[in-house]
Amino acid sequence: MNLVFLGLPGAGKGTQAQILAKKYNIPHISTGDIFRNAIKNETPLGVKAKEYIDSGELVPDEVTNGIVKERLQKEDCNQGFILDGYPRTLDQAEALDENMNQLDRKLDLVIYTKVKESELIKRLTGRRICEDCGATYHVEFDPPEVEAICDKCGGNLIQRDDDKEETVEKRINVNKDKTDQLINYYNKKDILIEIDAEKEIDAVSNEIVDVIEEKVK
Ligand code: ADP
Ligand code: ADP
Ligand code: ZN
Repeated sequence: MNLVFLGLPGAGKGTQAQILAKKYNIPHISTGDIFRNAIKNETPLGVKAKEYIDSGELVPDEVTNGIVKERLQKEDCNQGFILDGYPRTLDQAEALDENMNQLDRKLDLVIYTKVKESELIKRLTGRRICEDCGATYHVEFDPPEVEAICDKCGGNLIQRDDDKEETVEKRINVNKDKTDQLINYYNKKDILIEIDAEKEIDAVSNEIVDVIEEKVK
């Protein structure tokens, strides 16, 4: 099963992708996570990506397309994958199609998580991530059991630099038109489903699972 999560920053793509990856035992591939790991490890990719990410801009398509192409060729993707945060531009969507053709596979579903802007800002500014394992929390909507400590690994929870209020609005604006273009693109291919992602985390994932069971499985 090959899935894509589409949605503005803060819509809950990562949260939902993580839940589905566990349920269906297929990898959760987040380009944001790949870039953040590269930055942490100071690799050449990290050096390239850092200034774009810090300023809330997109990393150039040719860099991002290359990373995803390589990732999808790994063996753990043979039973399927969940892409989170890719594609984010039309150029990336076309590159992904080409890539799927070459692998003789196809996308089953593009899940568009829709959330209004005022809610996105609350979600992004309250988001915290584990500095060790990358798990996502929210200070109000999805708090850890012990304040500022990761339930899964005991690591410290931190705020991403690009989740500070100054960068959050910029990121939403950078992605708006591009997301609309992708909605059109996948609607034409008849594989887009829109989910009201303003409900609670469990309600959203139940709705997504229902659609998957109906349309894919
Ligand atoms: P969010 O989950 O809030 O949408 P991500 O973790 O997906 O944020 O991405 C963080 C940053 O990494 C983006 O603001 C962008 O700079 C970069 N990035 C992630 N995915 C892509 C992509 N597909 N194309 C270009 N840049 C990307
Ligand atoms: P994205 O990957 O789309 O940027 P995340 O999954 O990281 O979004 O979620 C953004 C923030 O909102 C996180 O702090 C997360 O805990 C929280 N969150 C995710 N889904 C919901 C929801 N349905 N209701 C309330 N908060 C949510
Ligand atoms: Zn952790």
